[in-house]
Amino acid sequence: MENTRKPYQLVSLDWKQERTVFSVKGVEIGGDNFNLIAGPCAVETEEQIHTIASYLSKKGVKILRGGAYKPRTSPYSFQGLKEEGLKYLKEAADRNNMAVITEVMDTNLVDKVYEYTDIFQVGTRNMQNFQLLKALSKSDKPVMLKRGWSSTIEEWLLAAEYLLLGGNSNVILCERGIRTFENSTRNTLDLNAVGLVKTLSHLPVFVDPSQATGVRNIVHPMCLAAMAAGADGIMVEVHNQPQEALSDGVQSIYFDQFDKITEDIYSLSSLIGKRPDFAKSVKI
Ligand code: PEP
Ligand code: MN
Repeated sequence: MENTRKPYQLVSLDWKQERTVFSVKGVEIGGDNFNLIAGPCAVETEEQIHTIASYLSKKGVKILRGGAYKPRTSPYSFQGLKEEGLKYLKEAADRNNMAVITEVMDTNLVDKVYEYTDIFQVGTRNMQNFQLLKALSKSDKPVMLKRGWSSTIEEWLLAAEYLLLGGNSNVILCERGIRTFENSTRNTLDLNAVGLVKTLSHLPVFVDPSQATGVRNIVHPMCLAAMAAGADGIMVEVHNQPQEALSDGVQSIYFDQFDKITEDIYSLSSLIGKRPDFAKSVKI
């Protein structure tokens, strides 16, 4: 007989057959829902995050992203506004009736980030930071766990297992591209992982086509591909002036590109039986 025993348990569909669905500030995640998370890579100024949040909320986006503590490859790159950035992010979200997702990079920042965020983001570089996972497993706020850029699907699910084992079952898995030999794009979006993880786990699976591609003009097709592959949501980087962005400008899309994505996601959703969390194309 085939050995189907898996090293992870709580995250698996064998363990729990119903798909995980939970609410964040009235926004349902998982199941038949399709969530669109958007915002800049990093919070840069008060004005920048307010401009972007106000535009996105008019488009119906309910969850605002923005990094305040940025994990940058170079120590000379913009590191984020830190707590000031968290404040601006939360104010912009509150003013527009949106929920917040932002990255927590370190165990000693969990309490501070908790004050401002609705969902903790664990970045690709921290997927196997087990101390951080254990700390977040004790939180009553959901966690989005990015896939490590060189982690296998099994390692990713085992990292999620830490969160569930510690008591936090409100977890989103997020495929954000893996490192391969291909260097024309920043990473390689592993859509196989989306399809496969949906057969292995009851947790919602999102895709971040911005980090996955690193190329603004292919974010749109990869959003649609992610949805067609079975993703439960996407997270995209949107900027009012991408050419001026302090981080990830080349992959940040313009407002008019975002408009097109919302329209096409809306059209595709009826075909594949998903319920988008935003209203149908609002012209602004
Ligand atoms: C980000 O979302 O801006 C980010 C740094 O993501 P990742 O950890 O996937 O690189
Ligand atoms: Mn980024």
